[in-house]
Parts: sequence; structure tokens; C-alpha cells
Amino acid sequence: MSPQLLNLAYIVASILFIFGLKMLGRQHTARRGNLLSAVGMLIAVVVTLFDRHVVSFQWIIVGLIAGTLIGIACARLVKMTSMPEMVALLNGFGGLASLLVGWAEYGKIQAFGWDKYLSEFAGTPTFTSAVIFLTVLIGGITFTGSIYAFCKLAEWLSGRPILFTGQNIVNGLMAVALLGAGVVFIVSRDMQLTTTAFWVVLALCLVLGWTLVMPIGGGDMPVVIAILNSLSGLAACAAGFVITNNVLIVAGCLVGTSGMILSVIMCKAMNRSIANVLFSGFGAAPAATAAGGEGAIQGELKPISPEDSFAVLEAARQVVIIPGYGMAVSQAQHVVRELAEMLERNGAEVRFAIHPVAGRMPGHMNVLLAEANVPYEQLVEMDAINPLMSTMDVAIVIGANDVVNPAAARDKASPIYGMPIINAHEARTVICLKRGKGTGFSGLENQLFLLPNTRMLYGDAKASLQGVISEFKAVAAA
Ligand code: NAP
Repeated sequence: MSPQLLNLAYIVASILFIFGLKMLGRQHTARRGNLLSAVGMLIAVVVTLFDRHVVSFQWIIVGLIAGTLIGIACARLVKMTSMPEMVALLNGFGGLASLLVGWAEYGKIQAFGWDKYLSEFAGTPTFTSAVIFLTVLIGGITFTGSIYAFCKLAEWLSGRPILFTGQNIVNGLMAVALLGAGVVFIVSRDMQLTTTAFWVVLALCLVLGWTLVMPIGGGDMPVVIAILNSLSGLAACAAGFVITNNVLIVAGCLVGTSGMILSVIMCKAMNRSIANVLFSGFGAAPAATAAGGEGAIQGELKPISPEDSFAVLEAARQVVIIPGYGMAVSQAQHVVRELAEMLERNGAEVRFAIHPVAGRMPGHMNVLLAEANVPYEQLVEMDAINPLMSTMDVAIVIGANDVVNPAAARDKASPIYGMPIINAHEARTVICLKRGKGTGFSGLENQLFLLPNTRMLYGDAKASLQGVISEFKAVAAA
């Protein structure tokens, strides 16, 4: 295939990626967007196979079959709640693939020597060494960082941040050593020296990926995964420069920037900076300001039974359901939908209020509610529901905690002060479903639970909702 035709196909693939990504932003165009991007990827893969650099199809076919089988098995077997782990693994393998590309290219340079290498492939020694260095560096950090993130999310390792004195200094020294070895690798033309520098870079970036994620708590893993996703894109982009493949450069940039935008959105929704997520060791110790400082609410927890909850809900005309991480834990999304349908049959208007960081990954609640076939029109974003909150008869808080904690708005001493919340406390009555006195991800007590208009429906969310539904059914049958 001529280089012109190859590049034309790559431009078409890139356009399909960009439009596909844009369409993923809306629920009704998302499926088509996914398909469009997949077609773009198919074009990119097929034309690359016709590239003159491909010398043997044997291993490509083996990889294709193995990858397809693993992909189908994952898509069928991985549960919706395990998606964050799955994404962490995919990022990690993306980083590893880029690292191996950089390594293989350096292997060629070692085997041929610079003169022969440059006579066959484009580039200059400094540029080629620099992009190989970047590919190995970013790919290596992404690989071990993602594997650590996966282990934390899958609870193979403790979710608590692991901190030790001088940790940032140790990481800083490793980063300096890594950059030093990188400079030697890029500048030197002595093959023995560059080989030693290469091994140092490889070893240090693998260790650094692990140690950078160590001090970050399990609850912050979604942000870390978005950052690692961005890094895996940048590693692929660098790999694209290494093997002079334009579509890899474009696709890598798209992944890199979209991952970074997502990380920034998540941090804003938590009122924290990326540096705070990465280096503050958030969640290392239980928060001491549980009872709150100035502006904190005083009161006691008032339990309510499913029977009494039914009585409150039966009389309600405006109901807002606020789901959080606990709904995902108890897998209550299907019973939530059932309750919402019953309330509507009873004459109530039901809305679902979605906080951008409810749960443990962006869009966590949207995915679960979509799985339970909750109509998308019933989902209302935080900024749209808050002005309506004082008109709500009942707010049902299902396993949400931090995202409805009024301390974020009122208590300047609170670690989550400034985080935007759903103003559940403004509803006439608030029914909170949770198992016991467990705190939210931030480790804080929730002052919402102490308000005079709040009642606590204790127990697993799914079981509690089933209790309320049984009351509705019993009354309907009577
Ligand atoms: P949360 O603050 O983690 O609270 C979850 C609540 O669910 C807990 O109070 C827990 O109390 C309850 N719960 C757990 N299992 C339950 C079950 N089976 N049945 C009933 N209740 C159950 O959740 P959130 O309000 O959704 O807030 C999310 C947090 O994660 C925020 O602090 C956010 O900043 C953080 N975060 C989210 C993202 C993201 O992308 N979504 C990213 C980074 C950080 P009990 O133990 O007493 O039951």
C-alpha cells in the first residue's frame, strides 16, 4: 500500500475516532459513537497490516485470536460493579504494550547499530532515543501503577494509603535518577552506556509506578485510574513516534487528553486538586473532625421502620431518589426501579438525583440505573435538582453519604468543605438507607443523619427497599 493511501486511511480512522468520542457524550448517540470508533479502529488495524513493516502475519494472527477471545470473555463475565478494576487492567496492559514497543525498537538499534538502523527507519539518534525513553518511562509507570490500582480495587491489597516518612523525597529521588539515566540514554552514542541507562530507566519506572500509587487511598482510585488512562494514551502516542505510525499518535493523544479532562472533572466535583489526590495520602487516618467544627449540626439518629417509611412515601407527591455507593454494594438498582414505578402508580413524580462522583467511578450510578432500565429522562444532574429540592416531599438517600453531607457546605472545619453536594437536607422528609453507623468514603460522620427531618432506615439497602415494596403490595392486595 502506498504511503499516501495509508495516511488517507489513517485520517479517515482519526475522524471516526473524534466523531465517535463526541457521540459518546450523549446517551442516545453513545451506541452509534461506540460503533463508529470501532469501525475507525478496524480501518486503522487493517491498513496497518498492509504496511511494509509487517514481515510475518503468524504472530499477529495468534495475538488477534487470543485478544478477541479474552475480550469477548471479559465483556460477558465482568460484572458492572467490577468495571473500575477492568479499566485499571486495560490501562495497565496498554502501558505494557507501549513499553514493549519501545523496548523492541531499542533491541533493533542494539542489533543493527545506529547507522544501519537509520538507513532503514526514519529519525535521528537523539529523537529516536528520546521517544523510546518516553515510551518506556510512561508505559512502565502506567503498567505497575495500574496493576497496583487493580489490586486495591479488587481488595487483593488494602485500600488504605500506605505512607512512610520521607515517601515523597524517596519518590522524588527516584524520579531524578530516572531522568538522569534518561538523559544519558538520549545523549550518549556509546552502546554499552546506553544499554545500562536503558535497564536503569526500565527498573526505576516500574518501581516508581508502584510507589506513586501506594500512598493513594482506595476511594481515590477512580481519579488515579483516569490519570493512568491518560498516561496509557500518552505512552501509545510516544510509541506512535517510535514506530512512525500516525494513527497511533492521534489515538494516543485522544486517550491522553480525554483521560486528563475526566480527571480534572472528578477533582472539581470533589473540590480537590490532582496534586492533593496524588500526594496528600487522603483517607490514611480516620477523620478526627467527625462531629464537625463551627456550623456543625447537633442531634441524634432517629430510626424508621419499612412500614413507617411506606406511610411517608404513600402520601408523597414529589419524590427524589439519591443513590450512592451503597446502592452499588447492595446491588439494589432493580428494586429501586420497582419502588419508583410503584410510587409513580401511586401518583408521585419520581426523579433520580445524580452526583458526579457518587459511587466509585464516573457515571457509576448512571450505569447501574441504566442496567435496571430506569428511564434516562428521570435522571437529573446535581445542578438541576438542587433548586427543586425544597419542593420535594421526600428524599430517599440510598447508600449515599459524602455526596449529601451538608458539612461540605456549612462546616469550614470539615475536610470535604467546599465539595458540591446534593441538597437532600432541604427536602421536607429525608429517609436514609444504610446498614449502620458506617461513615462515607471520606471517613466523616454525616450531619444530614442528625437533622430533625431525617429518618434512618437501617439494613442492607436492597432488603430495606424490598420491605417497603412489600408494604405497597400488601396495601394494593388488601
Ligand atoms: P460514600 O460516601 O462512600 O458512602 C457510601 C455509604 O453507603 C456508606 O455510608 C455506607 O454506610 C453505605 N452502604 C454501604 N453498603 C451498603 C449496603 N449494602 N446497603 C446500604 N448502605 C450501604 O458514597 P457516596 O455518597 O456515593 O460518595 C462517593 C464518595 O467516593 C465521595 O466521597 C467521592 O468523593 C468518592 N469518590 C468518588 C469517585 C467517583 O468517580 N465516583 C472518585 C473518587 C472518589 P454503612 O456502612 O453504614 O452501610
